[in-house]
Amino acid sequence: MTDISLQTADLNMSPDIIMGTLQQLSKVQQCLSASLNSINCHEKCEVSSFTAIQETEYNKCQNENVEQEVKIEKSLHTYSKQERAKMLADGYSFERHMLDRLWTFCGLISMFILTVQLVCRFDPTDVVGIVIALVLGVLVTDFASGLVHWGADTYGAVDLPIIGKSFIRPFREHHVDPTAMTRHDFFETNGNNFMLIVPFAVRFIYKGFTLSEHLLREHYRFDLFAYSLMCFVIMTNQIHKWAHTYYGLPKYIEFLQKWHLILPRKHHRIHHVAPHETYFCITTGWLNYPLEKISFFPTFEKLIEALTGIPPRRDDMKWAGKKVE
Ligand SMILES: [Zn+2]
Ligand SMILES: [Zn+2]
Repeated sequence: MTDISLQTADLNMSPDIIMGTLQQLSKVQQCLSASLNSINCHEKCEVSSFTAIQETEYNKCQNENVEQEVKIEKSLHTYSKQERAKMLADGYSFERHMLDRLWTFCGLISMFILTVQLVCRFDPTDVVGIVIALVLGVLVTDFASGLVHWGADTYGAVDLPIIGKSFIRPFREHHVDPTAMTRHDFFETNGNNFMLIVPFAVRFIYKGFTLSEHLLREHYRFDLFAYSLMCFVIMTNQIHKWAHTYYGLPKYIEFLQKWHLILPRKHHRIHHVAPHETYFCITTGWLNYPLEKISFFPTFEKLIEALTGIPPRRDDMKWAGKKVE
């Protein structure tokens, strides 16, 4: 720093000395100005025209910001499990909650109308066909639950636009804090699945009101298959929630779990062993064993990685705090 100390003896100085002192003061002012600008740049990073010093400071500042972002991205695993679970749980917005309520009410009303329509068309002479249609609906739902669960666990990220927070986030939250879903209310648990079935339910209701008696009788088995599928899609998250509930379950739910008519708790625990790469089916879990035996999901993962270079479970592992590249 330039020495600007003035002493009392300097009061009787010559014009040359006065000019020299003023030049020194001017240099000091320039130095202070440059320092202040550098500090300003460091804080705001919004300066449009720079001196060489300022530009260096600005670049340093920008690099620090980028490094900071990378650190945040990579240091997710340094947060405690509780902190990561809270970050994910906080992603459930008020708007999402209202949408869940809306879809749940629309779904319940449309499924009620569809049930009444199908009961009115019940044909007691075709019991075998009805049972086959209903069981097929359960199997297809179980498979679809596995496929969707696998897709959301294995690919995508919470920060993706539109689907990230509303669709991917609950899957990440579930691995970080498996019992969190037992604290979700009915709407948060089931809203997404009601949203899925509403357009189809409305389509089948419309069909029930507009097709002739003859055509409706011909379509009855298929309509029952679709009805069974929609019912189990609606119930899948609730069934999954019951598989994580250890206290206070009604006796009939425990009975259904015990006889593997819905996803049993012990069976589902296999999926919750890290890295969560098997037993994805969560409706009844009937297809988990056969799919595991034929390496169904690992085969697809290898194929996708070979074609796209995207490794499986990258985002999931990040949230689980297991691996950061
Ligand atoms: Zn999972
Ligand atoms: Zn689970």
